[in-house]
Amino acid sequence: MPLATPEGHNLGTLCVIDRVPRTLTNTQSDALRVLARHVVTQLMLRRQLEWSKVIEAELRASEAKFRNTVDRLAEGVFVVDPLARKIIDANLAVLAILGYTKSEFVGRSPEDIMAQEIPEVTTRNFSRIDSELATTGRRNLGRKCLRGKDGSLISVDVRITLIPNDGVGLQAFVIRDLTEQCAYEDRLFLYQTELENANAKLKQLANTDGLTGVRNRSAFNAKLLEEYDRANRYNHPLSVILMDVDHFKIFNDTFGHPAGDEVLKAVGRTLQETARSTDFVARYGGEEFAVLLPDTELSGAMVLAERFRRAIASVSWDKRAVTVSVGVSTSTKQTPEASKLVQEADEALYRSKKNGRNRVNHSNLSSLSIRNTIA
Ligand code: GH3
Ligand code: MG
Ligand code: MG
Repeated sequence: MPLATPEGHNLGTLCVIDRVPRTLTNTQSDALRVLARHVVTQLMLRRQLEWSKVIEAELRASEAKFRNTVDRLAEGVFVVDPLARKIIDANLAVLAILGYTKSEFVGRSPEDIMAQEIPEVTTRNFSRIDSELATTGRRNLGRKCLRGKDGSLISVDVRITLIPNDGVGLQAFVIRDLTEQCAYEDRLFLYQTELENANAKLKQLANTDGLTGVRNRSAFNAKLLEEYDRANRYNHPLSVILMDVDHFKIFNDTFGHPAGDEVLKAVGRTLQETARSTDFVARYGGEEFAVLLPDTELSGAMVLAERFRRAIASVSWDKRAVTVSVGVSTSTKQTPEASKLVQEADEALYRSKKNGRNRVNHSNLSSLSIRNTIA
């Protein structure tokens, strides 16, 4: 009988040998055919066994290679069997991040390492787990807190991937240690806060007059532009008061510069105390002060100007009486620009000086009507 493989290759012949020639009966012929089939089956089986040994070795090598790769990942990977609620595998990175040995880690419940509840993991009713995870098989959980073996909290980025298996499948967790990133972010936040504080202080310093503590001229000018625009847009009145300390040069010459400085400080303080919260008090120059009065029309500005003048004259000055001359202006539809307001107030101030000092003038009023307005 030929020994033919299922693919049709003839490997040899199965023969029955005797000392004398014979003729096979039908039954003997059938038996020989069956025997030949057995031989081929045995041959085939042995060949298959060799192959499966080779395949198994290859499989093992490839698995080891894969394992090695997963172990070398910077990301931690661990696998959870959600039905048994057990961690069934983990790579080296996870063990390093959480501080476990492999035998300590594998077999634990995932809840052991969760510092906060992660519903996708802790929900026992799997039909209720996150629908994104259920439908796409993936879920980015973002920043979560895990607990290391020593109890420390470790901030990690967590992603879950479902691995098909029998039943509900397995859950592969990929975690990235955010400790360094968090420390970096903390430092950054600290720097930013310090910088903001320093900026605020710097801005405050840049806007403040060093001697008197009231706002300086550049802050006044910036505020003037801002308020002038606002007044124009909403058709609101805006007034400016300029004040100049009378005969201040003589004061300095008589009592000395430091005593003069004290006077300027006291004037600044008095103006600030007398002003309303919306008024903007500034030192405009050497012994000149300015107050910006938003939403204030002529009559209101005159009342305030007179109040300022009186407040300064009423301070109990220890060396000699100190007074200020005052000029006021109020914007009208004809005021072409912000600087014109200061110019008009300055002209009114000049009139106050000329008319005898320690008095108030408004750019739009004659001296006569001023007396009536203030009275
Ligand atoms: P008027 O009544 O016309 O305003 O006369 P005045 O002497 O006040 O005006 P003048 O412009 O002649 O002099 C201003 C003086 O203010 C001269 C200057 O030394 C003084 N002064 C300016 N800044 C300061 C300062 O920061 N401290 C002191 N102590 N004096 C200052
Ligand atoms: Mg002056
Ligand atoms: Mg003066």
